[in-house]
Amino acid sequence: MQLTDSSRTLRFDILTLFPGMFEGFLNESLLKKARDKNLLDIRIHNIRDYTLDKHKRVDDYPFGGGVGMIMNAEPIVRTLETVKEGRSPIRTIMMSPSGLPFNQEKARQLAQEENIVLVCGRYEGVDERVNQHYVDEELSIGDFVLSGGEIPAMAVVEAVARLVPGFMGDEASAEEESYTGHLLEYPQYTRPQEFRGHKVPDVLLCGDPKKIKQWQYEEALKKTAERRPDLLKKRARSNSP
Ligand code: SAH
Repeated sequence: MQLTDSSRTLRFDILTLFPGMFEGFLNESLLKKARDKNLLDIRIHNIRDYTLDKHKRVDDYPFGGGVGMIMNAEPIVRTLETVKEGRSPIRTIMMSPSGLPFNQEKARQLAQEENIVLVCGRYEGVDERVNQHYVDEELSIGDFVLSGGEIPAMAVVEAVARLVPGFMGDEASAEEESYTGHLLEYPQYTRPQEFRGHKVPDVLLCGDPKKIKQWQYEEALKKTAERRPDLLKKRARSNSP
């Protein structure tokens, strides 16, 4: 048998102060299956285990004043050094509300990597020297501020994981989703044909695949124009069909 891309393992190392947050996430559903199948190798590292401070502190007051605490560089960098030792290439990413936007295109790029390290900030963020000297890029999952990078890291893992060959079982489903070709997905329906008086659109029952495809395409265009006109502009620039 030919060795295909699906025999590859994507490894994630996640640095956090709250490892327990990942337990349910990693041990349910498709993610658990993918780990069992060795498509994904996900390891969680507690940054607090790497502090040299005798009181196990990992944060301190900001220079120049200001509210809240800042995560010290030392414990994060020591964790990074341990995790990355002897392995390359590794893409190191800081979860940060001031990072570049994480989107489907970014997810596709990351799905090509072999090793991804995600660093979860807490408190008011991390010492900027970590970003400047030890991280390849900062990514934001949206224009809002959460209390920590754990949920953003989970969002990145899940978005990237479902693009790993073999993860979903049905490769076509990843290709037809929202954001493919800069379009939101068309509306979908399942049984029954009529639910409390609400009917499924007739065209979906007509049995003509060409007609159905055309309807789905038009609905996708309509929805995208209404909700995300910015995507249509991107679409025009990329010459998608
Ligand atoms: N004071 C910071 C916010 C810190 S939030 C600021 O104004 O930019 C604490 C941590 O939560 C961050 O270090 C980051 O790791 C994570 N975080 C919060 N919102 C995020 C977002 N939208 N995307 C990615 N990470 C986020």
